[in-house]
Amino acid sequence: MNWGDVMDFVKEFDNAIKNGYIIPYFQPLTRSITGKVCGAEALARWIDPNKGVIQPNEFIPLLEENNLIYKLDLVMIENVCKFYNENKIKNLCFSINISRLDFKTADMFKLINDIMNKYNVPREAIHLEITESIMFDNKLDINDLFERFHNNGFEIWIDDFGSGFSSLHVLREYKFDVLKIDMSLVQRFDLNSKKILYSIINMAKKLGMRSVAEGVETKEQYKFLKDIGCEIIQGYYFSKPMPGNDFLKYLDINGNESKEDYNYWNEIGKINFLSANPFKFDKFKEEDIFDVSPLALIEYDSKKLKYVYVNDKYLDELKIIGFNSIEKLEEVVNNENYENHTSLLEQIENSIANPRTQRVDNIINNVVFSHFTKLVSKTTDRCLIVSSFSTISTKRTDFLVLKYSQSLYKTYDLVTEITPSSDSAVQIYSTAGFSKIYGTRSLKEGIKEFASKEVLPSDKERYLEFFNLKKIENMKEDYIQDRFMIRSGNTYKLKNVRISKLYNGKFLYTIQSL
Ligand code: C2E
Ligand code: CA
Ligand code: CA
Repeated sequence: MNWGDVMDFVKEFDNAIKNGYIIPYFQPLTRSITGKVCGAEALARWIDPNKGVIQPNEFIPLLEENNLIYKLDLVMIENVCKFYNENKIKNLCFSINISRLDFKTADMFKLINDIMNKYNVPREAIHLEITESIMFDNKLDINDLFERFHNNGFEIWIDDFGSGFSSLHVLREYKFDVLKIDMSLVQRFDLNSKKILYSIINMAKKLGMRSVAEGVETKEQYKFLKDIGCEIIQGYYFSKPMPGNDFLKYLDINGNESKEDYNYWNEIGKINFLSANPFKFDKFKEEDIFDVSPLALIEYDSKKLKYVYVNDKYLDELKIIGFNSIEKLEEVVNNENYENHTSLLEQIENSIANPRTQRVDNIINNVVFSHFTKLVSKTTDRCLIVSSFSTISTKRTDFLVLKYSQSLYKTYDLVTEITPSSDSAVQIYSTAGFSKIYGTRSLKEGIKEFASKEVLPSDKERYLEFFNLKKIENMKEDYIQDRFMIRSGNTYKLKNVRISKLYNGKFLYTIQSL
């Protein structure tokens, strides 16, 4: 676009603002797991009656050169807030681009807040996207600025992450809520880019940030990003940026998240699907941040096993099952008289024959553990095998419970441990959909509530008599049982209720379908 001289451009831009030619286009942000819209990025378009749609790359550089970009950003915020207010938007967040120059030119904190107050927009509904280059201005106290925005309820997103040279420095110095990955990484989509994407998302989670990928154009890219735990997706695959009215229609068709969903999925987003232990999330302990698995490399020449590498975690786990050094372990496993010798060699042979990870559960010194092996490489006379293991439990009884729980589930609808003396109960499991509540209240309350809600009214009296805690506490038999009509879906079915004596004043309460 040819603007003539600079003064013409400035005048034209001011006119465009005055006449409402600067408008936001909205591009949906989609939650990868659910496919629902959770927000949108507002992108500026200059719609001139004569020139048509003017794209941001045609006027933003000129605005930046002339220190006028803050005007654009404020108009955009104003328009987005107006849109939010007029359409009674709920449960959607809008991200707005803020130029690094804005903070130099104007008191953005005050100006943004004034606009939001005017339109009554909650602070959580607006996220500020800032590119990393802002952070290289020594005169600004960025941390202080961010803190003011954060304290006020805004989220701050780092935009175009990975496009510059400084990304890691910026992450170390400043606090962002969301890391928005630069489009170039998604669009290359070769093996190297995939490895980098995988690592960036893993890193974001470890730093407690959510991640957004933009420039997603294909189903393949979307699926990959979803699988590696990237939470929010933006790109032509879902939609191009569009005017407000079209965006509202898009919402009608595709649906947007409820507030509950929004919070729920944001929490889930912090779970690290990539780490060796996805069950550890939320608050990392320092040692969990580098959650290394126990790992050893075993060389095998068809006769002997040789541990060529073990990490500390492996040694720690070994100690739990009673081996204090790797030399000791090597000596024992190579001894034909060792009780697990044959089974271990069999597992190794299986690994060599089959590329899948081999798993064998075992008990040594009353410790239950699973041993995993997988072939890494092979020459004519040797094989290298990776070995890892996890101790499941140090109690044999727990293992037996695990082992037999499968058949327990089939036998009983409900198993609850009760302790009359302390008026407490712990529900062990329920396959019949009984509320967990009964197992978390006071036992007396739980019984009453259960009798009212789950037992056929004509059986209720009898049930309460059966469940007489005084009688149970002093019972001589190993168990008492009776049959009652108990709710099953919309009807009642005859079920066997049994209370069995355990130990230390504890009893097991079970319901069994007949
Ligand atoms: P950005 O913030 O990185 O925005 C993403 C750009 O990628 C947008 O271009 C969007 O239309 C485009 N895009 C989104 N999905 C895809 C895709 O799947 N494939 C491809 N090829 N492109 C996709 P747009 O709207 O032209 O904006 C360009 C840049 O201009 C923005 O990059 C942003 O840096 C800047 N910008 C736009 N609006 C504003 C604004 O209101 N204020 C400021 N300060 N900058 C703005
Ligand atoms: Ca952006
Ligand atoms: Ca971007």
